[in-house]
Amino acid sequence: TADVTSSRMGGTLLPDVKNIIAISSGKGGVGKSTVTANLAMALKQSGAKVGIIDADISGPSIPVMFGAEDMQPMVHQVDGKNMIQPIMQYGIKMISMGFLAPQDNPVPWRGPMATQALRQFFSDTHWGELDYLLIDLPPGTSDIHLSLVQLVPVTGAVIVTTPQKVALADATKGLMFFRQSQINVPVLGVIENMAYFTPEELPDNKYYIFGKDGGKNLATKFETELLGEIPIVQGIREAGDAGRPAVMDEGVIATAFRESANLLAQ
Ligand code: ADP
Repeated sequence: TADVTSSRMGGTLLPDVKNIIAISSGKGGVGKSTVTANLAMALKQSGAKVGIIDADISGPSIPVMFGAEDMQPMVHQVDGKNMIQPIMQYGIKMISMGFLAPQDNPVPWRGPMATQALRQFFSDTHWGELDYLLIDLPPGTSDIHLSLVQLVPVTGAVIVTTPQKVALADATKGLMFFRQSQINVPVLGVIENMAYFTPEELPDNKYYIFGKDGGKNLATKFETELLGEIPIVQGIREAGDAGRPAVMDEGVIATAFRESANLLAQ
């Protein structure tokens, strides 16, 4: 059985994966995929074996963020069964609908189809041994969230939010989803993204464009950890578009994401 004792629901898939971590947000566009990509790289940099499941079936971002959008996974026989081989990019294993279906002509995904796709990412994909498998969830709470916790023993969830009131209201719902008694997945902490802006020419000035301490207050209110406060930095967006997570280049951003990864790993 899996080396995870925290889940009350999940099944017996992925016995060789030590930690399955859901990355969740209330709203879209708050940087959930960016945080997933950078946390994954930071964990990898610390020596861990890491994988990512892009569970945003209808809006996958992970292939672009890893410069892997033209890659196609191979299928291998493992113990007599056809298994999808995850894409390996920068030493991280990953699977996404972006690798499997044409993205410029998207098909609408009905709930059960999306759930089936997620199931295949677990049951028909050859992950091997991993220390961390990060799940980049779609925004909000959906069929996919419910399927995730039913399919596998989720170790814990990380909530990504920006600091403004409208984002926090949705982040709260996202957090409460995991805390429901029937779900009972531990909330490992909150990452406040786009926490402030600092102009290059005024490095000591922090502008709290979306408000101050929203993520911190959320963490305090729900008695969980604040795993990081990531500023708005042009380089993060550029790195995402360039297909090379920002944490791969040394600097304050790399330090910030590594601190978050360290807190997560504790
Ligand atoms: P989500 O997964 O929540 O929809 P994304 O991770 O796709 O959000 O981020 C949305 C956009 O914002 C992307 O273009 C991304 O590069 C950019 N972005 C995310 N976080 C930051 C940040 N801290 N600073 C600058 N740009 C960011």
